[in-house]
Amino acid sequence: MPEKAAQVIIIGAGISGLIAAKTLEEKGYSPVVLEASETVGGRVKTSSINGFKLDHGFQVLLTAYPMARKHLDYDALNLRYFRPGALLFSHKLRSFIGDPLRDITSFIPTITSVAASFSDKWKIFKLTSRLKRKSLKSIFAEPESTTAEYIENYGFSDVVTRNFLRPFFAGIFLEHQLKTSSRMFEFVFKMFAQGSAAIPNTGIGAISNQLKDQLNNTSFKFQHEVVQVQNGFVLLKSGERLKAEAIISTVPLTEDGKLDESLSWKSCENFYFEFNGGKLPVNLIGLLTEKDDLANNINIHQIEGQDDLISITVVKKHELTELELEQRLRYELETQCGIDLGKLIHKFNIKKALPNKSDISQVPKKIRQGDTIFLAGDYLANGSLNAAMASGEMAAGEVIKFLSN
Ligand SMILES: Cc1cc2nc3c(=O)[nH]c(=O)nc-3n(C[C@H](O)[C@H](O)[C@H](O)COP(=O)(O)OP(=O)(O)OC[C@H]3O[C@@H](n4cnc5c(N)ncnc54)[C@H](O)[C@@H]3O)c2cc1C
Repeated sequence: MPEKAAQVIIIGAGISGLIAAKTLEEKGYSPVVLEASETVGGRVKTSSINGFKLDHGFQVLLTAYPMARKHLDYDALNLRYFRPGALLFSHKLRSFIGDPLRDITSFIPTITSVAASFSDKWKIFKLTSRLKRKSLKSIFAEPESTTAEYIENYGFSDVVTRNFLRPFFAGIFLEHQLKTSSRMFEFVFKMFAQGSAAIPNTGIGAISNQLKDQLNNTSFKFQHEVVQVQNGFVLLKSGERLKAEAIISTVPLTEDGKLDESLSWKSCENFYFEFNGGKLPVNLIGLLTEKDDLANNINIHQIEGQDDLISITVVKKHELTELELEQRLRYELETQCGIDLGKLIHKFNIKKALPNKSDISQVPKKIRQGDTIFLAGDYLANGSLNAAMASGEMAAGEVIKFLSN
Protein backbone atom coordinates (compact mmCIF):
# COMPACT_ATOMS: atom_id res chain seq x y z
CA MET A 1 0.00 0.00 0.00
CA PRO A 2 1.26 3.56 -0.65
CA GLU A 3 2.39 5.52 2.40
CA LYS A 4 0.37 8.55 3.42
CA ALA A 5 2.06 11.34 5.36
CA ALA A 6 0.94 13.50 8.29
CA GLN A 7 2.98 15.82 10.42
CA VAL A 8 1.61 14.58 13.76
CA ILE A 9 -0.41 11.42 14.33
CA ILE A 10 -2.25 10.82 17.60
CA ILE A 11 -3.32 7.26 18.35
CA GLY A 12 -6.57 7.15 20.34
CA ALA A 13 -9.42 9.66 20.60
CA GLY A 14 -9.89 9.29 24.37
CA ILE A 15 -9.51 12.25 26.72
CA SER A 16 -5.69 12.24 26.53
CA GLY A 17 -5.73 12.14 22.71
CA LEU A 18 -8.30 14.94 22.51
CA ILE A 19 -6.27 17.16 24.86
CA ALA A 20 -3.12 16.41 22.86
CA ALA A 21 -4.95 17.50 19.69
CA LYS A 22 -6.25 20.66 21.39
CA THR A 23 -2.76 21.58 22.63
CA LEU A 24 -1.25 21.00 19.18
CA GLU A 25 -3.97 23.02 17.45
CA GLU A 26 -3.38 25.92 19.82
CA LYS A 27 0.17 26.09 18.45
CA GLY A 28 -0.93 25.91 14.83
CA TYR A 29 -0.61 22.17 14.13
CA SER A 30 -3.22 20.03 12.36
CA PRO A 31 -2.93 16.53 13.83
CA VAL A 32 -4.50 13.34 12.50
CA VAL A 33 -6.19 11.16 15.13
CA LEU A 34 -6.41 7.42 14.47
CA GLU A 35 -9.14 5.80 16.53
CA ALA A 36 -10.03 2.10 16.57
CA SER A 37 -13.69 2.63 17.54
CA GLU A 38 -16.39 4.69 15.81
CA THR A 39 -16.45 7.72 18.10
CA VAL A 40 -14.37 9.95 20.33
CA GLY A 41 -14.24 9.57 24.11
CA GLY A 42 -12.53 6.26 24.83
CA ARG A 43 -13.64 5.43 28.36
CA VAL A 44 -15.72 8.62 28.58
CA LYS A 45 -18.75 7.88 26.43
CA THR A 46 -22.53 8.08 26.50
CA SER A 47 -24.35 5.89 23.96
CA SER A 48 -27.97 5.50 22.93
CA ILE A 49 -28.94 1.93 23.80
CA ASN A 50 -32.44 0.45 23.96
CA GLY A 51 -33.96 3.92 23.79
CA PHE A 52 -31.86 5.41 26.61
CA LYS A 53 -28.68 7.45 26.73
CA LEU A 54 -26.33 5.49 28.96
CA ASP A 55 -22.88 6.35 30.30
CA HIS A 56 -20.32 3.60 29.80
CA GLY A 57 -19.87 3.01 33.52
CA PHE A 58 -20.64 5.37 36.36
CA GLN A 59 -18.03 8.07 36.53
CA VAL A 60 -17.94 11.63 37.70
CA LEU A 61 -16.02 14.75 36.89
CA LEU A 62 -14.42 16.20 40.00
CA THR A 63 -14.72 19.90 39.33
CA ALA A 64 -11.58 20.69 41.34
CA TYR A 65 -9.35 18.80 38.87
CA PRO A 66 -6.87 21.51 37.78
CA MET A 67 -6.67 20.13 34.23
CA ALA A 68 -10.44 19.97 33.82
CA ARG A 69 -10.74 23.58 35.01
CA LYS A 70 -8.20 24.55 32.40
CA HIS A 71 -9.58 22.63 29.43
CA LEU A 72 -13.34 22.35 29.96
CA ASP A 73 -16.10 24.94 29.85
CA TYR A 74 -18.15 23.88 32.88
CA ASP A 75 -21.04 26.25 32.13
CA ALA A 76 -21.51 24.82 28.65
CA LEU A 77 -21.49 21.27 30.08
CA ASN A 78 -24.63 22.02 32.14
CA LEU A 79 -23.31 20.06 35.06
CA ARG A 80 -25.55 18.20 37.48
CA TYR A 81 -23.84 18.33 40.87
CA PHE A 82 -23.90 15.54 43.44
CA ARG A 83 -24.41 16.41 47.10
CA PRO A 84 -21.15 15.87 49.01
CA GLY A 85 -21.15 12.58 50.93
CA ALA A 86 -23.17 9.41 50.49
CA LEU A 87 -26.37 7.70 51.56
CA LEU A 88 -25.57 4.40 53.28
CA PHE A 89 -27.94 1.43 53.06
CA SER A 90 -28.16 -1.65 55.21
CA HIS A 91 -31.25 -3.80 55.83
CA LYS A 92 -33.54 -0.98 54.67
CA LEU A 93 -31.95 1.43 57.15
CA ARG A 94 -30.46 4.60 55.72
CA SER A 95 -27.95 6.95 57.16
CA PHE A 96 -26.15 9.88 55.65
CA ILE A 97 -22.57 11.08 55.86
CA GLY A 98 -22.14 14.50 54.29
CA ASP A 99 -19.89 17.51 54.46
CA PRO A 100 -21.66 20.08 56.67
CA LEU A 101 -19.05 22.71 55.78
CA ARG A 102 -20.28 22.78 52.20
CA ASP A 103 -23.85 21.62 52.64
CA ILE A 104 -25.32 22.95 55.85
CA THR A 105 -28.47 20.80 55.43
CA SER A 106 -26.30 17.73 55.97
CA PHE A 107 -25.23 18.85 59.46
CA ILE A 108 -27.97 17.14 61.50
CA PRO A 109 -28.12 13.89 59.47
CA THR A 110 -24.32 13.60 59.53
CA ILE A 111 -23.87 14.36 63.20
CA THR A 112 -26.63 11.90 64.15
CA SER A 113 -25.58 9.17 61.71
CA VAL A 114 -24.88 5.83 63.37
CA ALA A 115 -22.58 4.82 60.50
CA ALA A 116 -19.63 6.53 62.16
CA SER A 117 -18.63 7.45 65.71
CA PHE A 118 -18.14 11.06 66.72
CA SER A 119 -14.38 10.44 66.71
CA ASP A 120 -14.54 9.18 63.08
CA LYS A 121 -16.52 12.23 62.00
CA TRP A 122 -13.96 14.48 63.68
CA LYS A 123 -11.18 12.60 61.84
CA ILE A 124 -12.95 13.07 58.50
CA PHE A 125 -13.20 16.79 59.27
CA LYS A 126 -9.50 16.98 60.25
CA LEU A 127 -8.35 15.04 57.17
CA THR A 128 -10.47 17.27 54.94
CA SER A 129 -8.90 20.42 56.38
CA ARG A 130 -5.39 18.98 56.17
CA LEU A 131 -5.71 17.81 52.57
CA LYS A 132 -7.26 21.07 51.44
CA ARG A 133 -4.04 22.76 52.50
CA LYS A 134 -1.68 20.09 51.13
CA SER A 135 -0.38 20.72 47.61
CA LEU A 136 -0.78 18.13 44.88
CA LYS A 137 2.99 18.07 44.56
CA SER A 138 3.38 17.05 48.22
CA ILE A 139 0.62 14.44 47.92
CA PHE A 140 2.36 12.73 45.01
CA ALA A 141 5.76 12.94 46.75
CA GLU A 142 4.57 10.98 49.82
CA PRO A 143 5.79 7.43 50.38
CA GLU A 144 3.08 5.03 49.20
CA SER A 145 1.11 2.58 51.28
CA THR A 146 -2.19 0.97 50.40
CA THR A 147 -5.33 3.02 51.04
CA ALA A 148 -6.46 0.33 53.51
CA GLU A 149 -3.25 0.82 55.53
CA TYR A 150 -3.57 4.59 55.34
CA ILE A 151 -7.13 4.49 56.68
CA GLU A 152 -6.11 2.20 59.51
CA ASN A 153 -3.01 4.24 60.39
CA TYR A 154 -5.07 7.42 60.44
CA GLY A 155 -7.08 5.82 63.22
CA PHE A 156 -10.44 5.38 61.49
CA SER A 157 -12.56 2.70 63.19
CA ASP A 158 -13.66 -0.53 61.55
CA VAL A 159 -17.23 0.77 61.67
CA VAL A 160 -16.69 3.85 59.49
CA THR A 161 -14.37 1.88 57.22
CA ARG A 162 -17.00 -0.78 56.62
CA ASN A 163 -19.98 1.56 56.40
CA PHE A 164 -18.54 4.42 54.43
CA LEU A 165 -14.85 4.58 53.50
CA ARG A 166 -14.53 1.12 51.95
CA PRO A 167 -17.63 1.16 49.71
CA PHE A 168 -17.11 4.83 48.80
CA PHE A 169 -13.51 4.37 47.68
CA ALA A 170 -14.17 0.91 46.21
CA GLY A 171 -16.59 2.68 43.86
CA ILE A 172 -13.87 5.11 42.86
CA PHE A 173 -10.84 2.82 42.75
CA LEU A 174 -12.87 -0.11 41.38
CA GLU A 175 -11.40 -2.57 43.83
CA HIS A 176 -12.77 -3.56 47.18
CA GLN A 177 -9.63 -4.34 49.15
CA LEU A 178 -8.41 -0.74 48.89
CA LYS A 179 -4.95 -1.76 47.72
CA THR A 180 -4.82 1.41 45.62
CA SER A 181 -2.04 3.83 46.49
CA SER A 182 -2.49 6.15 49.47
CA ARG A 183 -1.40 8.99 47.14
CA MET A 184 -4.52 8.36 45.08
CA PHE A 185 -6.62 8.32 48.26
CA GLU A 186 -5.26 11.72 49.32
CA PHE A 187 -5.61 13.12 45.80
CA VAL A 188 -9.23 12.02 45.38
CA PHE A 189 -10.15 13.05 48.95
CA LYS A 190 -8.69 16.51 48.31
CA MET A 191 -10.53 16.86 45.00
CA PHE A 192 -13.84 15.89 46.63
CA ALA A 193 -13.17 18.36 49.46
CA GLN A 194 -12.32 21.26 47.16
CA GLY A 195 -14.96 20.87 44.50
CA SER A 196 -17.99 18.82 43.54
CA ALA A 197 -18.62 15.54 41.81
CA ALA A 198 -20.66 16.29 38.70
CA ILE A 199 -22.01 14.79 35.47
CA PRO A 200 -23.16 16.82 32.46
CA ASN A 201 -26.94 16.65 32.18
CA THR A 202 -26.68 14.94 28.78
CA GLY A 203 -24.27 12.31 30.14
CA ILE A 204 -20.55 11.99 30.80
CA GLY A 205 -19.82 11.74 27.06
CA ALA A 206 -20.56 15.48 26.77
CA ILE A 207 -17.04 16.04 28.13
CA SER A 208 -15.46 14.23 25.18
CA ASN A 209 -17.85 15.88 22.72
CA GLN A 210 -17.04 19.33 24.06
CA LEU A 211 -13.33 18.68 23.56
CA LYS A 212 -13.92 17.37 20.05
CA ASP A 213 -16.11 20.36 19.16
CA GLN A 214 -13.27 22.71 20.06
CA LEU A 215 -11.06 21.15 17.39
CA ASN A 216 -11.13 22.81 14.00
CA ASN A 217 -7.95 21.59 12.33
CA THR A 218 -7.78 17.99 13.52
CA SER A 219 -8.82 15.13 11.23
CA PHE A 220 -10.33 12.06 12.81
CA LYS A 221 -10.01 8.66 11.22
CA PHE A 222 -12.39 6.29 13.00
CA GLN A 223 -12.23 2.50 12.69
CA HIS A 224 -8.50 2.87 12.12
CA GLU A 225 -6.93 0.33 14.43
CA VAL A 226 -3.19 0.64 14.89
CA VAL A 227 -1.16 -2.53 15.31
CA GLN A 228 2.39 -1.20 15.46
CA VAL A 229 4.28 2.03 15.87
CA GLN A 230 7.81 2.60 14.65
CA ASN A 231 9.94 5.71 14.49
CA GLY A 232 8.24 7.74 11.79
CA PHE A 233 5.53 5.17 10.91
CA VAL A 234 2.24 3.78 12.08
CA LEU A 235 1.02 0.44 10.82
CA LEU A 236 -2.75 -0.11 10.70
CA LYS A 237 -4.65 -3.40 10.99
CA SER A 238 -5.84 -2.83 7.42
CA GLY A 239 -2.19 -3.08 6.28
CA GLU A 240 -1.96 0.65 5.55
CA ARG A 241 1.25 2.39 6.66
CA LEU A 242 1.11 6.06 7.67
CA LYS A 243 4.16 8.26 7.86
CA ALA A 244 4.51 11.04 10.46
CA GLU A 245 7.16 13.37 11.80
CA ALA A 246 5.89 12.77 15.34
CA ILE A 247 3.50 10.20 16.82
CA ILE A 248 1.66 10.41 20.12
CA SER A 249 0.36 7.06 21.31
CA THR A 250 -2.29 7.09 24.05
CA VAL A 251 -2.35 3.31 23.79
CA PRO A 252 0.29 1.40 25.81
CA LEU A 253 3.18 0.19 23.63
CA THR A 254 5.92 -2.37 24.16
CA GLU A 255 9.53 -1.26 23.68
CA ASP A 256 9.40 -2.54 20.11
CA GLY A 257 6.26 -0.52 19.32
CA LYS A 258 3.64 -3.29 19.46
CA LEU A 259 0.46 -2.94 21.52
CA ASP A 260 1.27 -3.73 25.14
CA GLU A 261 -1.30 -6.19 26.45
CA SER A 262 0.69 -6.94 29.62
CA LEU A 263 -0.63 -4.02 31.67
CA SER A 264 -2.90 -4.84 34.56
CA TRP A 265 -6.38 -3.22 34.62
CA LYS A 266 -9.20 -2.92 37.12
CA SER A 267 -12.65 -3.82 35.86
CA CYS A 268 -16.28 -3.29 36.86
CA GLU A 269 -19.81 -4.11 35.78
CA ASN A 270 -22.40 -1.40 35.41
CA PHE A 271 -26.14 -2.09 35.24
CA TYR A 272 -29.03 0.17 34.26
CA PHE A 273 -32.50 -0.77 35.45
CA GLU A 274 -35.87 0.87 35.26
CA PHE A 275 -37.01 2.14 38.61
CA ASN A 276 -40.24 0.48 39.84
CA GLY A 277 -40.45 1.84 43.33
CA GLY A 278 -38.54 2.91 46.41
CA LYS A 279 -36.68 6.02 47.38
CA LEU A 280 -33.29 7.16 46.20
CA PRO A 281 -32.71 10.90 46.06
CA VAL A 282 -31.29 12.24 42.81
CA ASN A 283 -27.83 13.75 42.99
CA LEU A 284 -26.75 11.49 45.83
CA ILE A 285 -24.48 8.47 45.71
CA GLY A 286 -25.90 5.45 47.54
CA LEU A 287 -23.65 2.77 49.04
CA LEU A 288 -24.52 -0.78 50.06
CA THR A 289 -22.55 -1.47 53.18
CA GLU A 290 -23.02 -5.15 54.01
CA LYS A 291 -19.89 -7.28 53.58
CA ASP A 292 -21.47 -9.72 51.12
CA ASP A 293 -23.28 -7.18 48.93
CA LEU A 294 -22.25 -7.31 45.29
CA ALA A 295 -23.91 -4.01 44.43
CA ASN A 296 -21.36 -1.42 45.56
CA ASN A 297 -22.74 1.98 44.65
CA ILE A 298 -26.03 3.09 43.19
CA ASN A 299 -27.34 6.34 41.83
CA ILE A 300 -30.12 7.79 39.77
CA HIS A 301 -29.03 8.03 36.15
CA GLN A 302 -30.73 11.25 35.18
CA ILE A 303 -30.48 12.51 31.63
CA GLU A 304 -32.41 15.47 30.29
CA GLY A 305 -35.46 14.32 28.35
CA GLN A 306 -35.60 10.67 29.43
CA ASP A 307 -37.05 8.71 32.37
CA ASP A 308 -34.76 8.26 35.34
CA LEU A 309 -32.98 4.92 35.56
CA ILE A 310 -31.06 3.38 38.39
CA SER A 311 -27.38 2.70 37.82
CA ILE A 312 -25.63 -0.01 39.86
CA THR A 313 -21.89 -0.60 39.91
CA VAL A 314 -20.50 -4.03 40.81
CA VAL A 315 -16.84 -4.01 41.76
CA LYS A 316 -16.31 -7.37 43.51
CA LYS A 317 -15.41 -10.42 41.46
CA HIS A 318 -17.90 -13.30 41.52
CA GLU A 319 -18.72 -16.57 39.80
CA LEU A 320 -22.38 -15.81 39.03
CA THR A 321 -23.94 -16.13 35.61
CA GLU A 322 -25.52 -13.03 34.05
CA LEU A 323 -28.97 -14.11 35.16
CA GLU A 324 -27.87 -15.05 38.68
CA LEU A 325 -26.16 -11.69 39.08
CA GLU A 326 -29.23 -9.82 37.88
CA GLN A 327 -31.39 -11.73 40.38
CA ARG A 328 -28.87 -11.09 43.12
CA LEU A 329 -28.91 -7.34 42.46
CA ARG A 330 -32.71 -7.30 42.51
CA TYR A 331 -32.62 -9.10 45.87
CA GLU A 332 -29.95 -6.81 47.37
CA LEU A 333 -31.65 -3.62 46.25
CA GLU A 334 -34.95 -4.83 47.69
CA THR A 335 -33.61 -6.11 51.03
CA GLN A 336 -30.96 -3.46 51.69
CA CYS A 337 -32.45 -0.35 50.10
CA GLY A 338 -36.17 -1.07 49.71
CA ILE A 339 -35.85 -0.40 45.98
CA ASP A 340 -37.83 -2.41 43.46
CA LEU A 341 -35.88 -2.73 40.21
CA GLY A 342 -37.83 -2.79 36.95
CA LYS A 343 -36.68 -4.00 33.57
CA LEU A 344 -32.95 -4.40 32.97
CA ILE A 345 -32.06 -1.90 30.25
CA HIS A 346 -28.40 -2.69 29.70
CA LYS A 347 -25.25 -3.96 31.31
CA PHE A 348 -21.71 -2.77 30.59
CA ASN A 349 -18.85 -5.12 31.38
CA ILE A 350 -15.81 -2.85 31.48
CA LYS A 351 -12.67 -4.93 31.47
CA LYS A 352 -10.11 -2.12 31.18
CA ALA A 353 -11.64 0.52 33.40
CA LEU A 354 -8.69 1.83 35.41
CA PRO A 355 -4.97 1.09 35.24
CA ASN A 356 -3.89 -1.12 38.14
CA LYS A 357 -0.61 0.44 39.06
CA SER A 358 1.55 1.44 41.97
CA ASP A 359 4.03 4.31 42.01
CA ILE A 360 1.20 6.69 41.21
CA SER A 361 2.33 10.08 39.95
CA GLN A 362 0.56 13.35 39.22
CA VAL A 363 1.85 13.43 35.64
CA PRO A 364 3.66 10.80 33.56
CA LYS A 365 7.33 10.21 34.34
CA LYS A 366 8.14 8.92 30.86
CA ILE A 367 6.60 10.44 27.77
CA ARG A 368 9.06 9.61 25.05
CA GLN A 369 9.89 6.32 23.41
CA GLY A 370 12.40 6.61 20.61
CA ASP A 371 13.09 9.64 18.46
CA THR A 372 9.63 10.40 17.15
CA ILE A 373 7.29 8.46 19.44
CA PHE A 374 5.66 10.23 22.40
CA LEU A 375 3.38 8.71 25.03
CA ALA A 376 0.18 9.85 26.72
CA GLY A 377 -2.68 8.17 28.63
CA ASP A 378 -3.82 7.89 32.25
CA TYR A 379 -1.98 4.57 32.64
CA LEU A 380 1.31 6.54 32.73
CA ALA A 381 0.36 8.47 35.88
CA ASN A 382 -2.92 7.61 37.64
CA GLY A 383 -6.43 6.53 36.63
CA SER A 384 -8.24 9.86 36.42
CA LEU A 385 -9.51 12.38 33.92
CA ASN A 386 -7.02 14.82 35.39
CA ALA A 387 -4.06 12.54 34.64
CA ALA A 388 -5.36 11.71 31.15
CA MET A 389 -5.60 15.43 30.37
CA ALA A 390 -2.20 16.22 31.90
CA SER A 391 -0.54 13.42 29.92
CA GLY A 392 -2.07 14.60 26.62
CA GLU A 393 -0.96 18.15 27.25
CA MET A 394 2.57 17.07 28.20
CA ALA A 395 3.03 14.79 25.20
CA ALA A 396 1.81 17.50 22.82
CA GLY A 397 4.13 20.02 24.50
CA GLU A 398 7.11 17.72 23.89
CA VAL A 399 6.08 17.20 20.27
CA ILE A 400 5.85 20.96 19.74
CA LYS A 401 9.35 21.42 21.20
CA PHE A 402 10.68 18.57 19.06
CA LEU A 403 9.13 19.86 15.82
CA SER A 404 10.17 23.45 16.37
CA ASN A 405 13.78 22.33 16.80
C1 LIG B 1 -16.10 2.78 34.80
C2 LIG B 1 -15.11 3.88 34.89
C3 LIG B 1 -15.21 4.79 35.92
C4 LIG B 1 -14.30 5.84 36.00
N1 LIG B 1 -14.49 6.77 36.97
C5 LIG B 1 -13.74 7.91 36.93
C6 LIG B 1 -14.08 8.99 37.76
O1 LIG B 1 -15.08 8.97 38.49
N2 LIG B 1 -13.28 10.10 37.73
C7 LIG B 1 -12.18 10.17 36.91
O2 LIG B 1 -11.48 11.18 36.93
N3 LIG B 1 -11.87 9.14 36.08
C8 LIG B 1 -12.63 8.03 36.06
N4 LIG B 1 -12.36 7.02 35.20
C9 LIG B 1 -11.09 7.08 34.43
C10 LIG B 1 -11.15 7.96 33.20
O3 LIG B 1 -12.27 7.66 32.41
C11 LIG B 1 -9.85 7.68 32.42
O4 LIG B 1 -8.76 8.03 33.24
C12 LIG B 1 -9.71 8.45 31.10
O5 LIG B 1 -10.88 8.43 30.35
C13 LIG B 1 -8.55 7.83 30.31
O6 LIG B 1 -8.39 8.49 29.06
P1 LIG B 1 -7.25 8.01 28.08
O7 LIG B 1 -7.27 8.90 26.91
O8 LIG B 1 -5.97 7.89 28.85
O9 LIG B 1 -7.60 6.51 27.67
P2 LIG B 1 -8.84 5.92 26.84
O10 LIG B 1 -10.10 6.62 27.21
O11 LIG B 1 -8.80 4.45 27.08
O12 LIG B 1 -8.50 6.24 25.32
C14 LIG B 1 -7.76 5.40 24.49
C15 LIG B 1 -8.37 5.44 23.09
O13 LIG B 1 -7.56 4.68 22.22
C16 LIG B 1 -8.38 3.88 21.41
N5 LIG B 1 -7.58 2.71 20.99
C17 LIG B 1 -7.25 1.63 21.71
N6 LIG B 1 -6.49 0.79 21.00
C18 LIG B 1 -6.32 1.37 19.79
C19 LIG B 1 -5.63 0.99 18.61
N7 LIG B 1 -4.95 -0.15 18.56
N8 LIG B 1 -5.66 1.82 17.54
C20 LIG B 1 -6.35 3.00 17.58
N9 LIG B 1 -7.04 3.40 18.68
C21 LIG B 1 -7.02 2.60 19.77
C22 LIG B 1 -9.55 3.51 22.29
O14 LIG B 1 -10.67 3.11 21.53
C23 LIG B 1 -9.76 4.82 23.05
O15 LIG B 1 -10.64 5.67 22.35
C24 LIG B 1 -13.24 5.95 35.07
C25 LIG B 1 -13.14 5.04 34.01
C26 LIG B 1 -14.08 4.02 33.93
C27 LIG B 1 -14.00 3.10 32.75
